[in-house]
Amino acid sequence: MKYDYLIVGAGLFGCVFAHEMAREGRNVLVIDKRPHIGGNIYTENRMGINVHMYGAHIFHTSDKKIWEYVNRFAEFNQYINSPVAVYHDELYNLPFNMNTFSKLWGIRTPDEARAIIDEQAKKEVKRIFKERAANGDESAAEALDVAAASGQDIREGFEAANLEEQGLSLAGRDVFEKLVKGYTEKQWGKDCKELPAFIIRRLPFRFIYDNNYFNDRYQGIPMGGYTSIISKLLLMESSESESEKNITGTITVKTETEFKEFMKMDGDVPAKPFESVSGDSFDKILFTGMIDEFFGYKLGNLEYRSLKFETKDLPDTDNFQGNAVVNYTERDIPYTRIIEHKHFEFGTGKGTIITREYPADWKPGDEPYYPMNDEKNNKLFEDYKKLADDFGDVLFGGRLGQYKYYNMDQVIAAALEMAKNGMSTVN
Ligand SMILES: Cc1cc2nc3c(=O)[nH]c(=O)nc-3n(C[C@H](O)[C@H](O)[C@H](O)COP(=O)(O)OP(=O)(O)OC[C@H]3O[C@@H](n4cnc5c(N)ncnc54)[C@H](O)[C@@H]3O)c2cc1C
Repeated sequence: MKYDYLIVGAGLFGCVFAHEMAREGRNVLVIDKRPHIGGNIYTENRMGINVHMYGAHIFHTSDKKIWEYVNRFAEFNQYINSPVAVYHDELYNLPFNMNTFSKLWGIRTPDEARAIIDEQAKKEVKRIFKERAANGDESAAEALDVAAASGQDIREGFEAANLEEQGLSLAGRDVFEKLVKGYTEKQWGKDCKELPAFIIRRLPFRFIYDNNYFNDRYQGIPMGGYTSIISKLLLMESSESESEKNITGTITVKTETEFKEFMKMDGDVPAKPFESVSGDSFDKILFTGMIDEFFGYKLGNLEYRSLKFETKDLPDTDNFQGNAVVNYTERDIPYTRIIEHKHFEFGTGKGTIITREYPADWKPGDEPYYPMNDEKNNKLFEDYKKLADDFGDVLFGGRLGQYKYYNMDQVIAAALEMAKNGMSTVN
């Protein structure tokens, strides 16, 4: 069979692109190596609960057009993400807001909270300058003298040498130690003293009583799970929306199909004109897997952080933790959070399902979750992009193809843009 596009990856990016092509009357084939559609937003219904199989996914956006687009494929509930943090036996609301500060220090007003944070942060910067001065750093000694003589804020002109100094200078010791340090160290698999300061440019302090994690105008969880959005995008399930009627193109889907095993190859890359080993032909390809894998890693491996998920069905527990997301901020507890899936959809049925999320180092062959967008890897990606431009007729999209951390709304926006432009190369 002849197709206009082969779309590699049935994640959100590939599926939005496939859908838009079908709306344009094109015929596309979507393949994925996993046994299911949806990529990382895949949800599976068990015990009447939609389980987020690749970690908690909360849809949030400030882009009205994207919100309207996604609402063509699902009705969203009123879920507002309000995680709770556990530090030893203490519980705090996130993001850092007046509820957090009130619990930390027994205070009530924003002025009291600001005063404590300022005082603690200044104390830490002074301590760091003193340590630097004791080690012979003359500029640190000078900064201390100037601040003492002029009454100037000691934090002015302070440059943190690592993430620990940065966190302490922004948040003071209490917030940093209890809510930032251990969690960050688990996420990156490194001590905060070994991490660069730029990872935390600022901390999102909110001096109001508001536990809504996101600032976006629109937020929610699709009732019935994310997989149903994907089925509708792939025309496997019909959508109620008027704008989804009269689609003239077709979408064929094959799961458990690995790209390079599927295609006729010319060394590490697909042979041109594009053809599968079973004789299907394709004018163009959209590839949403890893761009370095496409080119046989010929310039080297891009690096990622990985995750491990441990999901447990608890048929005899109806409510495990009372909240969808609970973060564990101590370093000694190896997981970063526990998700209780039923609370995303206000479930009240019998039994519950929880997932512990463990950050993990990544090595080739592991599931790549987060691109490591540091200077070295970004440069390598730019080099792969050049290869992609020269190769032609293949678009690279999504978090792996574009080596970018994308939220779902950004993925939709980027896929719509790419579909509109038809055949531009990597963005
Ligand atoms: C733990 C976690 C939590 C997140 N939480 C949120 C959140 O709360 N809100 C939010 O907006 N976003 C969230 N995101 C981001 C969201 O998951 C992504 O924006 C989205 O899933 C990216 O879609 P994609 O299509 O680019 O990639 P993917 O979903 O990864 O899809 C790519 C697909 O390509 C397939 N593939 C790769 N290589 C090949 C190959 N060689 N052959 C065949 N198939 C191949 C893969 O199997 C995969 O299915 C989260 C991400 C993670 C990791």
